[in-house]
Amino acid sequence: MTKQELVEKIQALKKEKNAIVLAHYYSDADVQDVADFLGDSLELSRKAGTADADIIVFAGVHFMAETAALISPQKKVLVPALGAGCTLADGVNGEALAEWKAANPDGIVVSYVNTTAEVKSHTDICCTSANALSIAKGLPEDAKIFFVPDRNLGSYIISQTGRKMELYNGCCKVHDQVTTEMVLDMMAKYPEADVLIHPESKCSNDPVILENPNCYMYSTSGILRHASESSKKQFIIATEVGTLHKLRKDNPGKEFIPVSDKIVCHYMKLSTLESVYEALRDEKFEVKIHESIAGKALAPITAMLQK
Ligand code: SF4
Repeated sequence: MTKQELVEKIQALKKEKNAIVLAHYYSDADVQDVADFLGDSLELSRKAGTADADIIVFAGVHFMAETAALISPQKKVLVPALGAGCTLADGVNGEALAEWKAANPDGIVVSYVNTTAEVKSHTDICCTSANALSIAKGLPEDAKIFFVPDRNLGSYIISQTGRKMELYNGCCKVHDQVTTEMVLDMMAKYPEADVLIHPESKCSNDPVILENPNCYMYSTSGILRHASESSKKQFIIATEVGTLHKLRKDNPGKEFIPVSDKIVCHYMKLSTLESVYEALRDEKFEVKIHESIAGKALAPITAMLQK
């Protein structure tokens, strides 16, 4: 089938089945173009809850589809690629959190939304990179806090809020490649550019970066907002390369340069036009959350969405 035929079949199936496609900014460009809604983790979670649809095809990674299924248990949530995991989410399990809770019964577990439903079921409140600072600031001042699983985002939160937090030693293998040296090298090549950096990056708590007036630390939606509102014409983008598709589409007169073309999440690229079409056609692969953890896993997401 040609690309155009696949797109037409996907559009027809969406109409016939009252289905929508949600895609993350890191997904393949063709998939982004066929999506009804494109967003970061927080935006997609909210959309999954409010969308008037019977079926959601979630072109992202598994933990995101799980979050959508938790928020919308009455909808059928499908993932086009069964193998779409996440190095961050897969690096921690609920046991580590349960042990910490047993040792710190009054402590608060804050989980980045990039975690499995099982981990969320041991969590008090979730956050995303878009709301991490406000969630942390809103916690009781004297609370003992355990932040899981991303040490880079956790360090960034500490640097910006001054909150004391114990950090789990996990990371996103994609963003952990973004070092201070890499950023400074690119800044030397493009001295006029603003540098927009995702806080999962290894350099996210380095004062050399944080104190540089041309460097900005943002969630993906923050990166998009800064790029469209800024009068600058050139930007170095230090996050997953899929984000460049949307940036270039929305800002035709501006130049976007990846900090490195190696910042690629292969899990995110597993959803293709073919697999989205097959997911819709065969209504596979449905995400199911075991009922023994569904309620507990939803609670920290609800706590986050109510903030
Ligand atoms: S970019 Fe990193 S955190 Fe995001 S899905 Fe890929 S591995 Fe997970």
